Amino acid sequence: MRSVFFDCHTHTEFSSCAEDVTLQGYAEIARTTDRQFAITDHSAQVFYPPDQRWGFWGEDAYELYEANIEAGARRIRKYVETIRAAQCGGMFVGTELDVLPDGRKVFPDGVLETLDVVAGAVHSMPTLKQERPAGEVYDEFRFQVEALAGHGIQVLVHPYRLTLAAGVPVTDALLDWTVRLARDAGFALEINSHKQFPDVDLRMARMALELGVTLAVGTDTHRTQEFGDFAYHEQILQGAGLTEETWDAHLLWPSAAAQEAAAE
Ligand SMILES: [Zn+2]
Ligand SMILES: [Zn+2]
Repeated sequence: MRSVFFDCHTHTEFSSCAEDVTLQGYAEIARTTDRQFAITDHSAQVFYPPDQRWGFWGEDAYELYEANIEAGARRIRKYVETIRAAQCGGMFVGTELDVLPDGRKVFPDGVLETLDVVAGAVHSMPTLKQERPAGEVYDEFRFQVEALAGHGIQVLVHPYRLTLAAGVPVTDALLDWTVRLARDAGFALEINSHKQFPDVDLRMARMALELGVTLAVGTDTHRTQEFGDFAYHEQILQGAGLTEETWDAHLLWPSAAAQEAAAE
């Protein structure tokens, strides 16, 4: 028996905003249950120096990035080794990949390819900070999502969290653009339960299903209580017209290669 959903998105103590979750706690879950999930900590919070883990969001994001190309790469490699060493059962190794507003990935070359799950997120939008008009926000969003697609993400997580949190509406045109890029570039779109936007998630899920784009289930767990709670995802999937028997065909699962490697 396997868990009903593959949770593509969870955080550990390596993410600064995580609360009571630990890598050891996840390893224990993986050892003792049939849950399947990926560990996907924020790449920027591993890459930036331990005393400047929020540096990616600060005024000096670019300078700090450039000053840490080598040290950050070392920290990411060590992080991946640490998660790999703890891997067991249905645990998979991933990242929540950050890109700078200029599109550069906060990750060293040659490592993303070794991961089981590459989740991409838009996490920093200067146009929102500067309260620019919606059209500029949409342009910046599209630029960053295209950059993430170029870096080879498998899933775009919480696609519209930043824009919606800032009160910028998600238009049908923007949804349509995102779903078409997901189809053409071959990445999935996440239904995220950490911060819920049911209206937009339903519209996104319906469009994705129409165009044959894979959906992904993510709890984005920051505290233990969130882990394994798929009530919101079920609500959206059912609202979009999917019955339980069809979930497998429409949802993201770890690749066959990742499944095989995990079973060894
Ligand atoms: Zn995120
Ligand atoms: Zn996250």
